[in-house]
Amino acid sequence: MRWLWALLLVWLALPALADDGTRSALATVDLAGSSLAAEGRDRGKPRPMELRLTISQPVPYRVYFLDGPPRLVVDFREIDFSGTSAEDLPGRELVPALRWGRFRPGWSRLVMELPGPYALRTAVQSPAEGGARGALVKLRIEPVKPQAFVTRGNALSALWDLPSPAEVTPLPPRRTAKRPLRVALDPGHGGHDPGAKVGAIYEAALMLGFARELAEILTRAGFEVVPTREDDSFVPLERRMTIARAAQADLFISLHADALPAGEAAGLSIYVWNPQADDRATRELAMRHDRADLLAGLDLAGTDDQLADVLMDLARTETHPRSEAFAKFAVSELNRAGVGMHRTPVRGAAFSVLKSPDIPSVLIELGFLTDAGDRANLFDPDWRARTAQALAQAIGLWAQDDAARAALSRK
Ligand SMILES: [Zn+2]
Repeated sequence: MRWLWALLLVWLALPALADDGTRSALATVDLAGSSLAAEGRDRGKPRPMELRLTISQPVPYRVYFLDGPPRLVVDFREIDFSGTSAEDLPGRELVPALRWGRFRPGWSRLVMELPGPYALRTAVQSPAEGGARGALVKLRIEPVKPQAFVTRGNALSALWDLPSPAEVTPLPPRRTAKRPLRVALDPGHGGHDPGAKVGAIYEAALMLGFARELAEILTRAGFEVVPTREDDSFVPLERRMTIARAAQADLFISLHADALPAGEAAGLSIYVWNPQADDRATRELAMRHDRADLLAGLDLAGTDDQLADVLMDLARTETHPRSEAFAKFAVSELNRAGVGMHRTPVRGAAFSVLKSPDIPSVLIELGFLTDAGDRANLFDPDWRARTAQALAQAIGLWAQDDAARAALSRK
């Protein structure tokens, strides 16, 4: 259970981004596609149960148990439960009590009182069934002996109890009007993590500079830019993703120019999430990217529990092809602009910052500071301008293609 505490501390350290008014399209619950069901015949004893919640879009969530009385708690980030009553959930009568509501900014909570001690057997978030849009969260729990009942510590349960309906505050009105495409630009490293170094120049400063140049070109092209850092400060990897998500970014681009032993890497490379990728060079890069967070005590890699994997499965089926599509547009535009690339320009890597389940994300190594040719490029304003221009072009083409595909899948 140690990961749970570690994760919780990470969350508590995050700023309350959800209150800045940018979050306007929260997931909603569809009661018609939701239910609680028990297995087998009712003999007055606790039975295995399945909770199904159909929601309008996939969201990150956590499941755990509390005792006194035994309860199942599901925290969502985040579902707008307003206008729906847990009392109306089909199968509600199978448990002593069921409540849901807004818990605190950025978080919603479902609490189900249980007829005895239970354990979580499966937790799956998959595309909604029957052609409906959105996602289906399925939790299967089974009765266990009291000594096998695993709960989170009591200190927290005292603080975080059932949300009372009075706590549910109205959310800001939803914006439905079309808006410009929003691109999160993530200059790698910063603060006590300077990244790779060549001479007196650090990767962190170089990437901040390039991000500003790219942001200007994107803004002029009519896109909105969300920077994950705007100065030389340390921003943990999860917060970078949270900033993008809170701003409802449509695309996340992390910018790097790392160092690898000479001869191992040269040329611009675009990485998409792939937990299976394990060639030595990308493993080394992944470790470099995570090292600063590890030093700061934020173990993002350690959160890879079963539930996180479930979320990533969803990412693979829905978001991953969109990340790959962007990478392909970028390669073709960069080629056209004469920007030299690695012999395999698009690769997979388990870079933590690419883990967002719902935002297409890529990490671009603009070049490797250990390679003389790449170094010369990175210091050449003309090369940087051509590269930024090509990326802006690729973003525009990808956005059109992505919107067309989304429209097709809705038909
Ligand atoms: Zn880097």
